Amino acid sequence: MTLTHSGGCQCGAVRFRIDGEPGQSSICHCRMCQKALGAYYAPLVSTRGAAFAWTRGNPKYFQSSNHVRRGFCESCGTPLTYEASDGVAISAGAFDDPSGLPPVIQYGLEGKLAFVDSLSDLPARHTMDDLDEAPFLADLVSYQHPDHDTEQWPPKEKQ
Ligand SMILES: [Zn+2]
Ligand SMILES: [Zn+2]
Repeated sequence: MTLTHSGGCQCGAVRFRIDGEPGQSSICHCRMCQKALGAYYAPLVSTRGAAFAWTRGNPKYFQSSNHVRRGFCESCGTPLTYEASDGVAISAGAFDDPSGLPPVIQYGLEGKLAFVDSLSDLPARHTMDDLDEAPFLADLVSYQHPDHDTEQWPPKEKQ
């Protein structure tokens, strides 16, 4: 049985698949990864040692340094890759099931934001706990691509 991991951007214009065991799963705190992901740190899964392919569309790229380019969906902006001469890494949150690829190491500690270590101490709420302040949540319709491959997206009736 071949192990397969799939994923893609939020709008579904770009989809990928990894056949085989993916490489290391990590988070990077460096300032360039913070900016590229628009986040406190970048969760990345290396594709090294596995077969990686784009299965729908292709990312657009920003050359973020002389050695690294970053792929993202041109339609919805989802950050998708970190690519250097030693291989391609995929944004962990873009996988259809990120829970199966937990990070095992942190990089770029020089850029680490001090509060990251205490995020789990913050008050915590479910989305539907906020219905009073954000009543639109009650009839929210998601246009996000589902967490599995699709024959066609968006569905025909919506086009
Ligand atoms: Zn997209
Ligand atoms: Zn980084």
